[in-house]
Parts: sequence; C-alpha cells; structure tokens
Amino acid sequence: VIDAGQPEHSVITTCAYCGVGCSFEAQMKGDQLVRMVPWKGGDANHGHSCVKGRFAFGYASHPDRITTPMIRESIDRPWRPVGWEEAIAFAAERLQAIQAEHGRESIGGITSSRCTNEETYLVQKLIRAAFGNNNTDTCARVCHSPTGYGLKTTLGESAGTQTFDSVMQADAIIVIGANPTDAHPVFGSLMRKRLRQGASLIVADPRRIDLLKTPHLEDAQHLPLRPGTNVALINALGHVVVTEGLEDHAFIADRCDTEAYRAWRDFIAEERHSPEASEAITGVAAEAVRQAARTYATAGNGAIYYGLGVTEHSQGSTMVMGIANLALATGNIGREGVGVNPLRGQNNVQGSCDMGSFPHELPGYQHVADISARGRFEDAWGVTLDDEPGLRIPNMFDAAIEGSFKALYVQGEDIAQSDPNTQHVEAALSSLDCLIVQDIFLNETAKYAHVLLPGSSFLEKDGTFTNAERRINRVRRVMPPLAGKADWEVTVDLARALGYPMEYAHPSEIMDEIARLTPTFAGVSYAKLETHGSLQWPCNAERPDGTPTMHEVDFPIGRGRFAITEYVATEERSNRRFPLLLTTGRILSQYNVGAQTRRTDNQVWHDEDVLELHPSDAEVRGIRNGDWLGITSRAGQTVLRARLSERMQPGVVYTTFHHPGSGANVITTDSSDWATNCPEYKVTAVQVEKVSRP
Ligand code: SF4
Repeated sequence: VIDAGQPEHSVITTCAYCGVGCSFEAQMKGDQLVRMVPWKGGDANHGHSCVKGRFAFGYASHPDRITTPMIRESIDRPWRPVGWEEAIAFAAERLQAIQAEHGRESIGGITSSRCTNEETYLVQKLIRAAFGNNNTDTCARVCHSPTGYGLKTTLGESAGTQTFDSVMQADAIIVIGANPTDAHPVFGSLMRKRLRQGASLIVADPRRIDLLKTPHLEDAQHLPLRPGTNVALINALGHVVVTEGLEDHAFIADRCDTEAYRAWRDFIAEERHSPEASEAITGVAAEAVRQAARTYATAGNGAIYYGLGVTEHSQGSTMVMGIANLALATGNIGREGVGVNPLRGQNNVQGSCDMGSFPHELPGYQHVADISARGRFEDAWGVTLDDEPGLRIPNMFDAAIEGSFKALYVQGEDIAQSDPNTQHVEAALSSLDCLIVQDIFLNETAKYAHVLLPGSSFLEKDGTFTNAERRINRVRRVMPPLAGKADWEVTVDLARALGYPMEYAHPSEIMDEIARLTPTFAGVSYAKLETHGSLQWPCNAERPDGTPTMHEVDFPIGRGRFAITEYVATEERSNRRFPLLLTTGRILSQYNVGAQTRRTDNQVWHDEDVLELHPSDAEVRGIRNGDWLGITSRAGQTVLRARLSERMQPGVVYTTFHHPGSGANVITTDSSDWATNCPEYKVTAVQVEKVSRP
C-alpha cells in the first residue's frame, strides 16, 4: 500500500486508533491511498504522529475485508452470500419475529467506540426508537464507564477537564494506571517534553513504565502499588493533603460543596487512611506516598492523567472519584496546567459515551428518566421512549444464557475476544436466536452470527470522532466504501426495514439533529468544523467556539462534590493456589485485539503476546526467557511465552491481548466495577508453570 510516488490529491482526516485523535493528510493516487502524513494543522497533534496512525492503514484494503453481506439460518450452517437488500430484510424479519414472540425487551444492540459519532448516535436511536427499549450499550462499558460515573458524580460532567496542550503548563504530573508512551504516543511525547523542561513526575503503577525513563528526569517518583489497591493509595495521598494542611481552602470555600468536603475531610483524616496504615495494603513505602502528595499539592499546577489501570477494577468508579477528590482539595481544577484527565483508549470512546450509547442515558448524558429531556427526543423522533434504563452488556449476556434475551445487533466490536471470561461470552452468543454483526472482518464474534453486514473503515466515510480532550474532529471520506455502504447507511436501512423512518442525505444532517437535541453540542455543525478545524464541547450559545478548559467558573452541578471513597479489597487476591496477580495492557505497535494492526503489511507488527514476570518469580519456578508457560486462573487457562523483566514487581505478571490465540481474556474473570460493571481486567490471581511447547 505504501508507495513513494507523488500523490495526485489529498484529504484531511482523523486517525482511527487511539484517543489522541491525530489529524492526517491522506495522500491519494486515484482511488489508492499511498501515504498518511501527520497534518501540521491538527489541533490535537500539531503535525506529530505515532507508527500506528502513520503506517498501519493497510488493513483497509486487506483481502480479509468482508465485502458481501452474508446470512445463515443457524450458526452450524454455512454462510450464504446475498445482496444488501436480502440481508437487511432477513435481519429485520428475524428481529420482528423475535420481538413478537418474546417481547420488545428481548433485543438490544452494542455501539462501537471505533465508529463515528453520527453512526453511534444512529445505533442508539435505532434501539430506542425502532426496537423500543433502552438495551443499548457500548464497548466503553469495558473501559471507561467508571470515568463517566465518577466524574459526573464529583465534577458534574463525564469528561476530562483539559486540552492535551495544557500539560505544558503543569508543574507536577501524576500518571496513574496509564502508559502514555505506548498507548497514547503523541501525547506521551508531549508529556515527556514538559518533563524535560522540569515538571515533576509521579507514576502510580504496578509496572515501571517507560515514562519513568525520560532522560534528565532524576527525581521521578514511582509508586509501585499492588494491583487492586488504587483506592487505598489515593486515600493515603488525600490523608497527607488534609493532615499536613496542604488543601486550597479558598478554592474549597468558593467552588465546592463544603458540607461534602467536611464529611470527606473527617473520613480521610482517619488514621486507617494514613500512608503508614496503607503501606500494608498497597506495598508502597509510606514516605514515598507522603513525598508524592507534597509534590503534587505544592507544585503550583498539579495535573492528573489516568488510564484503564484506574477504571478496569472492581473499585474503578471509586478510584475516579478519589482522583477528583484530590484535585478538588488542592484546587487543581479550572485552569490550564491542572485537572483530571482520563486518557481514552479508542479513537471515539468519548464520542460513543457522549452519543447516548449507555442504557441509562440519552445523548449528552441526559438521563432516560428526565421527563423534559426524554420529551425533546420523543418529539423529534416521533415515538414514546422507555423511561427505565435498559440492559448493560454483562446483563445482556446473563439474560441470553437465562433465555429472555434473544437478539443482538453489534456494530464494530469484537465482544467474543475483547470482553472478559470468554467462555461466558461464547455461551451467551451461542444462545441467541439472532446475532447481527456489522464489521470489516469476520471476527471472533461473527462465528456466532446469523447475519454479517460488511462494515466500512474510517477511510470510507464522513463523520466526526471526539478525542480524549472532548475535541470533535472531522473524519472525511478518502475512498468509496468497499462494500458499497458506509456504516451509518446500513443502520438507516435496517431502521427502515423495521418500519421506522430515518432520512439523512449526509452525516452532517445527523450532526444537525444531535446539535438540536444535545445542549452540550448545540453549537456544533460541519460548517463550523470547517472554519474552526475542531471544536471542544461544550459548544453552544454560551461557548460558541467550544471549551478547552472545563469548570473554570463553576461546575455543571454547581459546586464540586467530594465523595467518600472507602477502600474495599478485590475478590481477586493471590493465595496458595493462585499466588501471582496478572495485569494487562498494550504495546506501542499493536492496537487492542489487533484486528487492524495485525493486518498491516509491515514486519514491525509481527510480534506475539508474552507473559512478563520478575526474575525472582521466574527463578523459583525454573523459568527462563522464552520458555512456554501455562497460566491458570479461576476462569480458565492459557499458554504464553515468558519474558523476564525488572519492570515487574515480584508477585505481579503482565500480558497484552493483541493476538486471538493469546487467551488473555480466557483467564480474566467476571469481577467488575460495583457502579458500572466495567470488568476488572487489571487484577486476576493466577498460577504460572513451565510447560512443554503447546
Ligand atoms: Fe493515531 Fe493515537 Fe498514534 Fe495519534 S497517537 S497517530 S491518534 S494511534
């Protein structure tokens, strides 16, 4: 695909990998994409990029792409290639028959953080208006749903507070459970630039991440906590702030709910939250915690960045609130250089949440029980909407196995590979009477499908993505859809076949509808995106040019609200049978389940998932680099090669989940966040033994 020749024309669009949302110039020769050049005019990347956005686009023309719709009566029958019309009619007839026999609650859908805002909006609209229920969920369920809950509860908005560029004003940077140089490389480089200029770095992570190796960074502090003990650590940091008088009392008095503050202060000041008491839980030396709290609270501008190492825990939502507490207590909210910043994994996680994918929220985080919000959508959509939250993804799986949930529409998400406890997911999928999968490849989920609808890559459609800094970027069609339809057109066709009218000539008209119904998007239009380049929501009459920094004057809930964050130990604890704790993550050159990066014609992508473990854990088991290891948890078993690494702490092992054969999610368990059901991918008790080659 990559050709050194001169391009004939080019199109500016947005990378479809991580939540940085880099802008690229797609250079074309006829219909062939020859080069992706990072665009200097991109507001998120200013001309920078990583290897994935720059080189890993060959998957769009890979021979594995599905270009013909396919149907089958049951999953033990062969696929039958058919035309679009027949496939859509087949899907609609099945959905209607199931609904007639089992009721409207028996079907649902899953939107994708890989698709555009407009496509995600249409899928949840299809489910709410045409299916007639709120059984809509998104793959954000398994990554950042605790961010939505935690930040909405404390700060009033389910989003990060800053621009990426804001880090250049930070004096102290805390990174918790994130690995920016691998997972958000362009932002990781920007952060490194600020660290080289002298900002202090505190990393709370079980693993020694590369950011700690930033040159000229002698005073970086690493808090190598045990997996599953985040909340004990954040409480200990809060304890130091309160007991050493490091709070910003003026900010608390002016901007926060002082009653909630007093309750939190009394709670956090208890001796059981002291660094000394927490050391036994977290494994982090008390003095290191004291030093980190002082650095953050007295630096001037303290900024916190966090990733899935915060959210993917049984206390993910509690931890997000703990981070917000710390920022509120020290006045590190509402200006450049500070804030609470979730680093979103996928290109459009923020957007898929914004667009009403969750079963309890309409677009713009408007609760389904809110009569006035619901009324606006009912008027616009011409239907009566359900006022009860629908099923979350894990509830859909349970209901499918139990027999009350019968049909599922999945757009752009490989739930069979990416969700935890694969055996349970497969049991649920094989129980369905109708599974409709819309994807660019025949993925693991499609093995259980009755209808396969070809998806379109980001190069084949118009739309928008919203990155981790709430920035709405244009996605522009570079080439025609390989299968003849963009994803949004397929959803429109399915709605029409179900008897619900959807009429859009272009995704810009979908955005116009979103703007009419969603107060935080009221000022967004494609015309304005052309003149502004990008827009950060909220964008409306009060903020016509968007909002780079949130909460400058007040919070959407009036005052910042401290939350009580009681530490509760995870059920996943090491014991004699499973003496090690497994945690998971990504590497720079691969992306999530690897569906795209593994289909790029470039040697750099041909790696494998391995199990990293500390040399001392290897030695007692007689394991050497490259040995095959059997890894067993209470959920299942898999086999990986060993990589000995001093980055790990003794007792903790680590792997990635980029290759289908790795089985990382065969061994992850059903444990999940108490508030949102986000799976606890980051803590699995395991046993590791040397085995012969599989
Ligand atoms: Fe794409 Fe993220 Fe890399 Fe930017 S940093 S090029 S958005 S993968």
